Amino acid sequence: MMDIFETRESEVRSYCRSWPAVFERAQGSTVYTEDGAEYLDFFSGAGALNYGHNNPALLEPLLEYLRSGAIVHSLDMKTPAKRKFLQTFEDVILKPRNLDYKVMFPGPTGTNTVEAALKLARKITGRQHILSFTNAFHGMTLGSLSVTGNSMKRMGAGIPLTNSSKIPYDDYFDGETADFLWLERVLEDSGSGVDKPAGIIVETVQGEGGLNAARAAWLRGLSELCKKHDILLIVDDVQAGCGRTGTFFSFEGAGITPDIVCLSKSISGFGLPMALTLFRPELDAWTPGEHNGTFRGHNPAFVTAAAALETYWADGKFQQQVSARIVQLHEGLERIAASVEGAAVRGRGLLAGVVFPDPDTAGKIAAAAFDRGLLVETSGPESEVVKLMPALTISADELDRGLDILIEATNAVAG
Ligand code: PMP
Repeated sequence: MMDIFETRESEVRSYCRSWPAVFERAQGSTVYTEDGAEYLDFFSGAGALNYGHNNPALLEPLLEYLRSGAIVHSLDMKTPAKRKFLQTFEDVILKPRNLDYKVMFPGPTGTNTVEAALKLARKITGRQHILSFTNAFHGMTLGSLSVTGNSMKRMGAGIPLTNSSKIPYDDYFDGETADFLWLERVLEDSGSGVDKPAGIIVETVQGEGGLNAARAAWLRGLSELCKKHDILLIVDDVQAGCGRTGTFFSFEGAGITPDIVCLSKSISGFGLPMALTLFRPELDAWTPGEHNGTFRGHNPAFVTAAAALETYWADGKFQQQVSARIVQLHEGLERIAASVEGAAVRGRGLLAGVVFPDPDTAGKIAAAAFDRGLLVETSGPESEVVKLMPALTISADELDRGLDILIEATNAVAG
């Protein structure tokens, strides 16, 4: 039967098509439909719920804040909630990692931080071109879409977007070449017609683009190229950041320090919209008011963000727990991949999955998993990857249960 979602909402709907249910309540890693069905959530709001649904450590301070009559919306005015977030971010995240970044609130979502990063790179260098990578995903507004690699999404803009070119991501090099001599050769040839870019934007793991994970050596090669040629390196950590790959920033293990970092999704920790653009202090070239917007001061998000950092990142205990879940997830994924010829594990940390040789298989497995009570999405240019993003707070039992369902679903579809 058609309901108001089908009759009134635009055809642009996506997730509701693969999950025909009305989701009403959620706690931790479990969501409940209005019909009382229960699902384990290995999707986590596309990475916005790293600490699970309605996490009490975040919910309590949020409710207390709202009941106290404190400021909810403040554009970019000063508030105690914003002060506390900035101070906690400095004490818990930046200082222990020896990072010195200015913090900008670019707007509420991931695409806003990418837009700010692209604008800043152009403004600082006076150059207009941005390089990004095959299969990259950076957002849906015109600037972020122009650096996105997926042509189906790009066609949403109607006509081709300019000012950006795609170059091959690490998966193209088959684990061998980690330098960028091929690109330097073109950049150094003044007759090549290739404009020197203002910046290069990269995901360390391509969340939407098929869970390709860049090698540390390749990221270092990219960082060296950028330094040598005075190009700004922008790491889009919107999906891979906030602990998803096992460290707070996904680039920590690679030994690089990007010039600009984009964060959103799980920075508020509670699924509330919030985004940050971080950049080296000497890059703060903005004149006051040059990049603004109405929703840069969502104080409830500052409250939950500060609570999440204090609860989970003030010492190393949570990170250890996440490391154990990462090992457990990857063992399960290896078993699933081994059960289907040509399948392989992709990704890093708790941003991982299995790629199948027949692109239809992943969608069928995701559907079979839904029928058995597990929410998983697909990823990749042909949706050929089953993508798992359980909450970082998931218990070992829940993770096992979800993996068992996925094994059953895989056997049912491809066994
Ligand atoms: N960058 C990356 C790496 C993303 O995964 C996403 C969202 N999937 C975005 C940017 C855009 O974020 P938003 O949807 O909040 O605008």
